[in-house]
Amino acid sequence: MNSKNNTYVTQPFLPDLQEFIPYLEQIWDNKILTNAGPFHQQLEEELCKYLGVKHISLFCNGTLALVTALQSLRITGEVITTPYSFVATAHSLLWNGIKPVFVDIDPKTMNLDPAKIEAAITPSTTAILPVHCYGHPCDVQAIEKIADTYNLRVIYDAAHAFGVNDTHGSILNYGDLSVLSFHATKVFNTFEGGAIVCHDAKTKQRIDHLKNFGFVDEVTVVAPGINGKMSEINAAFGLLQLKHMDHVFNQRQAIDAFYREHLRDVKCIECVSRTCETKANFSYFPIIVGSDYGLGRDELYAKLKEHHIFARRYFYPLISDFPMYRGLPSAHRDNLPNASYISSKVICLPIFPDLALEECKRIVDIIRMSA
Ligand SMILES: *Cc1c(COP(=O)(O)O)cnc(C)c1O
Repeated sequence: MNSKNNTYVTQPFLPDLQEFIPYLEQIWDNKILTNAGPFHQQLEEELCKYLGVKHISLFCNGTLALVTALQSLRITGEVITTPYSFVATAHSLLWNGIKPVFVDIDPKTMNLDPAKIEAAITPSTTAILPVHCYGHPCDVQAIEKIADTYNLRVIYDAAHAFGVNDTHGSILNYGDLSVLSFHATKVFNTFEGGAIVCHDAKTKQRIDHLKNFGFVDEVTVVAPGINGKMSEINAAFGLLQLKHMDHVFNQRQAIDAFYREHLRDVKCIECVSRTCETKANFSYFPIIVGSDYGLGRDELYAKLKEHHIFARRYFYPLISDFPMYRGLPSAHRDNLPNASYISSKVICLPIFPDLALEECKRIVDIIRMSA
C-alpha cells in the first residue's frame, strides 16, 4: 500500500499551482526575497483586516515568534503554562531561561484551569502562557482578572486559533500578545510561518526590531535580536491561501458536523465540545475514548493504523513528562490529574479540506465496530 492510500490526521490545503505562478513572477521581477518586502507588508495588512486585529508581525515560524514574544515583554523568572500542548509552548520558555510552572487543565475545555492558577503564583511569577487548545478559546476573562490582580503579563499561544472569534470579535485581541503558527499542519499555512499579534504600534516596532537582529537602521542595533523574518515566498503563498479560507473553513465544518452526528450515539466515545467561540476554525477533531469503550485508547489508535488511518494522540505525552521538564516540582502527575487523564484517553481524528466524507464514514465505522 503506498502512502497515497493513507489518511493522515491532516493534510495541507494547496491551491492550484497555476494560481501561485504570478506571485513567483513578481518576486523574480523585483528580486526582493525577504526583509519586509512588498508581499510581507501586504500579508501583514491583509491579515489584520481578515482576523480583525490591530497589529501583526510575521515570523518564519511559530516557535521563534513565541521566543520573541517573551523577549519583547522582557519576561523573566517563572511563567505559568499548560502541560497539555505541543512541546514548543514550554520550549520557548527554556530558550529564554524562564522556569515553566505547569498548572492543570480543565477537563471539559482542555485549557489551563483558571481556578488553579493563583495557587501556582510566587514572587518570581511574571506572566501566564496559556494555549487556546484545538482552537477552543481559554477562559480569557478569568485569566485577565488574575493577571490584573497579580500584575502579570499574558501571552497566548494561539497556534491553533487562527480565525476564531467570540462575541467580542477575534480571540487574538485578548492578553498582551497572541502568537500564531502557519506551519503546514495548521488551518492557515504558509509552508512554515508564524506571527505575533499585538495592540499598539510601539510594541509592534519592538517586535519588528527583535526579529531582524535588533536593527533599527543601518548602523543602530538596539537589542540582541534574532533572525525571525518571514520570506517573500512564504508571504506570497499566505496571500494566495487567504483567498481560499472560506472554502477551507466550510470543508472543515462539514467534516466536524459529520463526525459529531455519526459518533453521537457511540458508547463511551465523547466528542470534545467547543467553548465560547461564535466562529470556530475546526482545526482538530479530538475524541475521548472512555474507559468502558471496547478498546483502550492505544488499541483504537493501532486499529485505525491497521486500516491506514493515521490519527494522532494530541497531546500525549504531556510536555511535563519530557526529560527537560519532568524534574520540575509542578511536573509531578499528582499536580496534573486532569491533563494526565485526558492525555491517556485522547485521539485526534483526521480533519482537512480534501478529506472525503466517505472516508470519514469509514473511520466512524471502524470506531463503531469496536464499541
Ligand atoms: C504548531 C505549534 C507551535 C509551533 O509552531 P511552529 O510554527 O511549528 O514553530 C507552538 N505551539 C502550539 C500549540 C502548536 O500547535
